[in-house]
Amino acid sequence: MPDPMMMMSKNGMVTDIHTRIRTDPFTNNYELLGRELGRGKFAVVKKCVEKATGKEHAAKFLRKRRKGEDCRRDILNEIALLESAMVNPYVVSLHEVYETNADIILVLECAAGGEIFHQCVADNDEAFTEKDVIRLAGQILTGVASLHRNNVVHLDLKPQNILLTSAVPLGDIRIVDFGLSRRMDSVTEVREILGTPEYVAPEILNYEPISTATDMWSIGVLTYVMLTGESPFLGDNKQETYLNISQVNVDYSPDAFEGVSSLAMDFIKTLLLKNPRKRATAEECLNHPWLNGPAAACPHLLATSLPSLDIEPEASQSESEPESPAP
Ligand code: ADP
Ligand code: MG
Repeated sequence: MPDPMMMMSKNGMVTDIHTRIRTDPFTNNYELLGRELGRGKFAVVKKCVEKATGKEHAAKFLRKRRKGEDCRRDILNEIALLESAMVNPYVVSLHEVYETNADIILVLECAAGGEIFHQCVADNDEAFTEKDVIRLAGQILTGVASLHRNNVVHLDLKPQNILLTSAVPLGDIRIVDFGLSRRMDSVTEVREILGTPEYVAPEILNYEPISTATDMWSIGVLTYVMLTGESPFLGDNKQETYLNISQVNVDYSPDAFEGVSSLAMDFIKTLLLKNPRKRATAEECLNHPWLNGPAAACPHLLATSLPSLDIEPEASQSESEPESPAP
């Protein structure tokens, strides 16, 4: 049995998987339901029913060849990281894997509530309340803290990759899409700009080392979007977005945060910091008063008119202080 560490390539990809890759026809065992659940650059996800059990699943069809290149290793990495998160309650579970000539098919737990993206851009009655966001952010952080403890960085946390078990009533979150994820043990640098422009951290734009803190930046962006419905760095074009990110140009005005508690804003400010070493970790976030204070238990306490909740953001997070040398 080869040591899994030895199976890891220099860029943090793991290709040693435990799931048996089935080559019998997928359609022998599953019936595809017409509805497409979603799609990304190289994948289509469809709802299906397992014939033997009648259970619904989501089948992610991943093309092995992309732009003329063999991407089987990337898919094996995605499978390996899903396997490593099998006990993580907030990561979508992997049921089976099939391989055809063109595709590898991941049979996943179906997150029937869809992407949190929809509620992020929704109008008032469908949008999340702050109480909802507190609960969902707590779950995202619990899931990500567990990934980080296992040295896995997701690197593509955004509202399209955070799904819900059910939309109405609002269920629990499931983190999906480990297509860009890496094991941190051996990653020192990224050579290409990964992820979606709006959610990538400044260190990715600067080709600086990635770390678990890279995910924490994305969680800051995600929380901002969930609370305000606005994408904090989105510009009119890619260049403008990148400039906004590298300057950490964030609108914290009362206008943008209307009806949102100052604790929530303080929470976001612990994450949207240019220096990755200064950002809060997932564990630290879980201890932040925003997730644990009275507001988390009693939604009516979130009214911004309650001065008792208006604490000043910590001055210690200032971006202007000199950066400490790398350890
Ligand atoms: P890509 O790597 O192409 O972005 P994803 O894994 O993010 O692929 O899947 C694309 C989309 O399909 C998701 O944004 C989501 O809408 C949907 N989807 C993915 N996995 C599931 C799932 N397990 N249950 C329900 N929908 C899913
Ligand atoms: Mg995706």
